[in-house]
Amino acid sequence: MLINTGVPTREQLDRLLPSPERRARGPYAMVECFQEIPCNPCSTACPFDAILPMKDINEIPAIDLDRCTGCGICAGVCPGLAIFIIDESKKDGTATVTIPYEFRPLPEKGETVNAVNREGDVIGDATVTRVLASKRTKTPLITVEVPAELVHDVRFISLIDEQSFSDDTSSESQKSPVSHETAPKTDDEDEIIICRCEGLTLRVIRDLIREGYTTVDEIKRISRAGMGPCQARTCGPLIAAEIARMTGQQVAEIQPSAHRAPVKPLPIEFFLGGDSE
Ligand code: SF4
Ligand code: SF4
Repeated sequence: MLINTGVPTREQLDRLLPSPERRARGPYAMVECFQEIPCNPCSTACPFDAILPMKDINEIPAIDLDRCTGCGICAGVCPGLAIFIIDESKKDGTATVTIPYEFRPLPEKGETVNAVNREGDVIGDATVTRVLASKRTKTPLITVEVPAELVHDVRFISLIDEQSFSDDTSSESQKSPVSHETAPKTDDEDEIIICRCEGLTLRVIRDLIREGYTTVDEIKRISRAGMGPCQARTCGPLIAAEIARMTGQQVAEIQPSAHRAPVKPLPIEFFLGGDSE
């Protein structure tokens, strides 16, 4: 289930798939955003109005794929890194997927990288065909060519030269309860925003875990993470995952924060009992 694993189900993904005719026609956006969160840059950024306007900022984005040109602008502005551009129009057994990629160093055009699926497993090789690092959008977009049958599975890349570093950090993370060395520390990574509502970075969360705040509720009370409009629907699972990683536990062992109704923001007219002014 998405809320427990962070991975959408096959059924959820199949519902996004365009018709075979649209898939063959050219690039299109796969908007893999399944939770009602207060977020809408995709719909306001699309120059073709393909991502439909939202009446309520909590709506799940809806896309009109006949209007979508696959330009990728939405993928570059989505803070959830939830949009991918797929091109299955080539008839040579390959397809491309464009992935928002917020890591350094960036790969280079022509480089062979690991193709990684939604679960984080390497499932093959991919060839980088385009690196778009625009100052305007800030999130670089990496286009990779993969075998056509993998294009709906590949959702991340990792650089082959960094494989040994990743393996070292994951084995180290199993050893100690709270280790300062477990974090793959880079300045860039520490500045990742974990709680958008309260503007809290991964550095803040990691510092609190090192200080001994090792439950999601403790971190919520000391930092206000999860007290904003999204009510922990975005940051809660991320904080739980970081606690698990730094304390050598499984994510399933980490208690989510306490929730009280209403569990999502509601329009004031709901409490007024109707839609009359
Ligand atoms: S890829 Fe371009 S046209 Fe398609 S939804 Fe995104 S911004 Fe709109
Ligand atoms: S997370 Fe991305 S896809 Fe979802 S609403 Fe926000 S901008 Fe749109």
